[in-house]
Amino acid sequence: MSKWKILTLSAKWDRIRVPIYEASAKGRRISILKTLLTNACPYQCKYCAFRRGRRVERRTWDVNELVNVTLTLWRKGAIKGIFLSSGILKDPETTVEKQIEVAEELRRRGFKGYIHLRLMPGAPKDLIWRAAVIADRIGVNLETVSKDYFSEIAPDKGDFKVDILKRMEWISRAYRIVKQQRERLHRKIGYLSAGIDTQIIVGVIGETDLEHLRVTFKLYRDMELRRVYYSPFESIPETPFETKQPCPIARVLRLYQASYLIRDYEFTLKDIESIVNDSGMLPLDKDPKRIYAERNKDLYPINLNEAEYHELLKIPGVGPTLAKKIIRIRDKKSRIGIEDLRRILRKKTLHEVLNYVEI
Ligand code: SF4
Repeated sequence: MSKWKILTLSAKWDRIRVPIYEASAKGRRISILKTLLTNACPYQCKYCAFRRGRRVERRTWDVNELVNVTLTLWRKGAIKGIFLSSGILKDPETTVEKQIEVAEELRRRGFKGYIHLRLMPGAPKDLIWRAAVIADRIGVNLETVSKDYFSEIAPDKGDFKVDILKRMEWISRAYRIVKQQRERLHRKIGYLSAGIDTQIIVGVIGETDLEHLRVTFKLYRDMELRRVYYSPFESIPETPFETKQPCPIARVLRLYQASYLIRDYEFTLKDIESIVNDSGMLPLDKDPKRIYAERNKDLYPINLNEAEYHELLKIPGVGPTLAKKIIRIRDKKSRIGIEDLRRILRKKTLHEVLNYVEI
């Protein structure tokens, strides 16, 4: 099913057609106005539809127009929020300043919806702090996983370490501080209430899954990102990468599964390294957690009555919620037995879990 729908706004003589993105959050679909401040970009990223010189219609939102459209859609109940990214308007600083102007004007006019700002590489520190207070989520796109790859695919976007990673570190520091302020002030909107995130393109330059997962590890563990989005590379006509093969969706799916092992299942980098093959790639035919169990047979069976939380998370079929439930039952009854498992697990999951545990 398409994640986009088109809304037509306003009267007969003054129509605007706005594409609305249906984002997923906690299993629900949420309509978000997803747009660029401008697609008239002077940079020449090799993968991008809006790179300078490519024949495409160019548009730039006027700040007030974008604020009015967003407020109209939000008041009608057609959207819950806005995701605002951009091409480069003159320079990164001017662009980020305008993004923040949109967000601040929306709040000033009573907008209580979700605001997600995708900031530009090289964004100045003071603007990052302003964005962190006004928006619910911010981030800078990493695009790829190393300095050399970055210079190759996005030659005008600056230095990977300085203009991207350093900015993500500032964003992460701002997140830790505004989070405390939000809790102290009991704020429900803004103050990075939805955390921080980034996006990385997969399969754009021959990078391996292990390279992706090493960077992802740093982002989740050191910088406390809420989400690393993987975007499968798609070749776009009239770009230098137009003849490159698109990235298979199965690869992105396996990367997401492995990344959740890092974010939610306490897997270490060493654990992840035991899952990839000799070429640094995740096998596509099986869930990474099952592959981990196959390659680390000496860790199984795991004793359900003695295992610590991080060990329970190594059992295929057991996630954080179930691991906590097992520990609660053990605390309450001093032991967990097969009858307890029958009560808390579906038949299929029980069958799988029993392959890896002893009770
Ligand atoms: S800066 Fe963004 S919009 Fe501009 S060419 Fe690069 S990816 Fe495209």
